[in-house]
Amino acid sequence: MGLLNKICSKSFLQRLCRKNINLIDRLPPVRGILRASEPLHKKNWFGVGGAAEVYFEPADIDDLSLMMRFMPNEPCTILGSGSNVLIRDGGIPGIVIHLGQPFSRISLEGETLICGAGASLMEIARFAEKNSIAGFEFMSGIPGSLGGGIRMNAGAFKRSLKDVLVSLTVMMPNGELQEVNPKDMEIFAYRQCYLPNDWVFVEARLRGEKVPDAHDITEKMRLYKEKREAAQPQGVRTAGSTFKNPDGLQVWKLIDNVGLRGAKEGGAMVSEKHANFLINTGSATAKDIETLGNRIVQAVRRQEGITLEWEIKKMGVEID
Ligand SMILES: Cc1cc2nc3c(=O)[nH]c(=O)nc-3n(C[C@H](O)[C@H](O)[C@H](O)COP(=O)(O)OP(=O)(O)OC[C@H]3O[C@@H](n4cnc5c(N)ncnc54)[C@H](O)[C@@H]3O)c2cc1C
Repeated sequence: MGLLNKICSKSFLQRLCRKNINLIDRLPPVRGILRASEPLHKKNWFGVGGAAEVYFEPADIDDLSLMMRFMPNEPCTILGSGSNVLIRDGGIPGIVIHLGQPFSRISLEGETLICGAGASLMEIARFAEKNSIAGFEFMSGIPGSLGGGIRMNAGAFKRSLKDVLVSLTVMMPNGELQEVNPKDMEIFAYRQCYLPNDWVFVEARLRGEKVPDAHDITEKMRLYKEKREAAQPQGVRTAGSTFKNPDGLQVWKLIDNVGLRGAKEGGAMVSEKHANFLINTGSATAKDIETLGNRIVQAVRRQEGITLEWEIKKMGVEID
């Protein structure tokens, strides 16, 4: 009798029904791009991985808020430019949110840049150069969006996002906006941001320094480009540095010590030019790349006694 009551209860029947309705049909009526089974291999730099169960690009901030408030309790993943992720071959269950063009505006208020989280770090650096605002040159070769850059505390040449961020606007899972002031709390570490993973970064204020003309900015950007081209593989499918540098050490040296520069796994390869870069040579699956990365972790642990930490964010479901 207890079981019969349970089976007939309204909430139990509703739950049963919901299981048979596709996720996309259970989402609120948003205005942006909303697609089921969206392939993701063209949306990440490795060029690998399966599909998003549902893919969403909000039309604007209200659209994003509507989705956040009314989406069912399903996994939610934020994807920026896909330059620091390894999307697994089984795809990403739940909803994948990407902030596109409507979130890419950049404007200037004195020495402060107000940027949408979808703006690219390279565009921000170029905008600052055009307006003679110094301090953003380090961003010019990092191929990510501002949102991804803040999440990763991306950086180069001894500077990172934490050095320029004045305030951050985030959308919380309840669809409300909140201002975060990095001066009020410690939110960053090396290639890491401690804010909760389900907060969507939507806008940030970044401070630079007004200079009389852009000459030195342009020169610095040129120098950084030269250095990058000399040290890193160009025109390949990669997600940049695979592992974080352990305190005081350089990962590429550790990978050299264990003899894995140039090592291959299926279509994945350790770059000959920079041993901390994994490359999709054309036919790699996400599994090839992950297996090669795990081989490095094991070899470095065994021979050097050091446990490497992935810098690249692995997302989604593995398939055998
Ligand atoms: C050739 C190459 C060179 C690189 N060089 C550098 C370098 O010099 N320095 C460096 O630090 N990195 C470097 N990277 C890595 C990468 O470009 C940065 O980490 C970049 O900031 C990631 O941004 P993204 O938009 O691509 O984020 P994604 O790779 O899409 O995502 C990275 C993380 O950010 C989260 N995220 C994305 N957008 C948001 C948002 N709006 N709100 C909240 N979370 C979000 C994602 O959920 C994920 O956890 C390089 C990568 C490549 C391919």
